[in-house]
Amino acid sequence: TTIGTNLRETVARHATREALVDVPSGRRWTYAELLRDVDAVARGLLQRGVERGDRVGIWAPNSPEWVLLQYATARIGAILVNVNPAYRAHELAYVVGQSGMRTIVAVEEFKGADYVEMMGQAQVEHPSLEDVVLIGTASWDDLVAGGRDGVDDLDLIESGLSATDPINIQYTSGTTGFPKGATLSHRNILNNGWFVGELLGYTEHDRVCVPVPFYHCFGMVMGNLACTSHGSTIVIPAPGFDPGATLRAVTDERCTSLYGVPTMFIAMLNDPGLASAGLDTLRTGIMAGSPCPVETMTQVIERMGMAEVSICYGMTETSPVSLQTRPHDSLEQRVSTVGRVGPHLEVKVVDPTSGATLERGEVGELCTRGYSVMIGYWGEPEKTDEAIDGDGWMHTGDLGTMDADGYVSITGRIKDLVIRGGENIYPREIEEFLLQHPDVIDVQVIGVPDAKYGEELMAWLRVREGATPPDAAAIREFCAGRLAHFKTPRYVHCVDDFPMTITGKVRKVEMREAAPAILR
Ligand code: ATP
Ligand code: MG
Repeated sequence: TTIGTNLRETVARHATREALVDVPSGRRWTYAELLRDVDAVARGLLQRGVERGDRVGIWAPNSPEWVLLQYATARIGAILVNVNPAYRAHELAYVVGQSGMRTIVAVEEFKGADYVEMMGQAQVEHPSLEDVVLIGTASWDDLVAGGRDGVDDLDLIESGLSATDPINIQYTSGTTGFPKGATLSHRNILNNGWFVGELLGYTEHDRVCVPVPFYHCFGMVMGNLACTSHGSTIVIPAPGFDPGATLRAVTDERCTSLYGVPTMFIAMLNDPGLASAGLDTLRTGIMAGSPCPVETMTQVIERMGMAEVSICYGMTETSPVSLQTRPHDSLEQRVSTVGRVGPHLEVKVVDPTSGATLERGEVGELCTRGYSVMIGYWGEPEKTDEAIDGDGWMHTGDLGTMDADGYVSITGRIKDLVIRGGENIYPREIEEFLLQHPDVIDVQVIGVPDAKYGEELMAWLRVREGATPPDAAAIREFCAGRLAHFKTPRYVHCVDDFPMTITGKVRKVEMREAAPAILR
């Protein structure tokens, strides 16, 4: 099934139920209204010359227009190219050129950055970018108005599409280096959204608060596609992440589900609005994207009432989810593992050097196979061949172990592994431990070059307001007798914030680059 066909099936069953709510503007769509506006945008794109397979960029924070464009492009078989709202001129020009973008839909500005000027520069470099449509201006209104009068038979066009067609290019978060353009099909992402929603038990009664960016799979697949394939409601709390606005949206819109990466949940748990928020309708949600500290998970369940909150593990290249905890998994399973493999997918743990499948309980590289594995990296066949082997296994670059019952624990990224004096150290374990320090609210541990041991550990800390920032000696004392000597960080550095990707992931690559200057 294609995404548009699936949307029409939902509309047939739930026409009058709410599909989409934009809290900042107060606009609301039922499923029938959503399809009407999606079709107007789809016809508008056709009138502007967009054809099946053409790349259409979207460069905007979360908004209803983002959602309309997502389904409109899928309806006509155009390829939506998600552009990170945090990108600046040279990064935009890169993805415009790399994807061969023909049309871009964008906002005029966001967070003080002039998008119009940057798109103008990209057009000079890449004249193939013919058409710019600006949300919130006459050009978007013209696109929609033109589409409303259009005569194209979208159902007919759609019947000519194939579920294995590429319909989305998503650049990876760029946590470990330069973003790569994962090319995904209807089959990849529609199935993933559907199964994620199934495992959360979504029905037409669920209202899902999505503060995570649509530009990433987490928002557009686990959020939008999980909702529209189950008749649930997508609730947009704010264009960018705002902990207070998110808590208010859950309260006012009576949301049943809430998403975030761990750092977002940490921000909500520390927000003054938490005390007065009405979160009694919240039953479930997803925490994903990076490791979730035990402490954060416990508080999300106890203080936010998200009894069934699920941990998901995945990556852009696998549409994204491949492992997920189930609502009835124990707290222990939800805090120490990322769950079990999803339906119709396979996961194995291999020795990163030999490729041999390891015994249960042994740490190795996770590999995923099944419907969710991307078509490939756009325009980069060599990188695709490095990532997906001849048997169809996607090599994730993540380290983990699988227990006897199939529950997988992530121990870190191969690139973040610290090897000190021949000892493999997983920064995650030390981060969990240091989080127990009463003044530490967040912590990241990296390896820094060391003449004697090869690498030494450095802990970056965010401390509670008003607390005295602990130095290396204080941390050593805290670890003494409870953490092996070789796992005790040699260096400690207190910061207000960590360098982050816009998806809320810590860029350890940047911390490692900055460390030598800090230690000098
Ligand atoms: P890049 O590939 O550009 O370096 P990225 O890998 O962060 O960036 P994404 O595809 O957004 O880009 O993220 C996937 C990665 O996020 C996974 O490979 C894994 O390292 C991490 N991740 C996802 N979910 C979890 C989780 N539940 N626990 C721990 N890590 C997770
Ligand atoms: Mg990656």
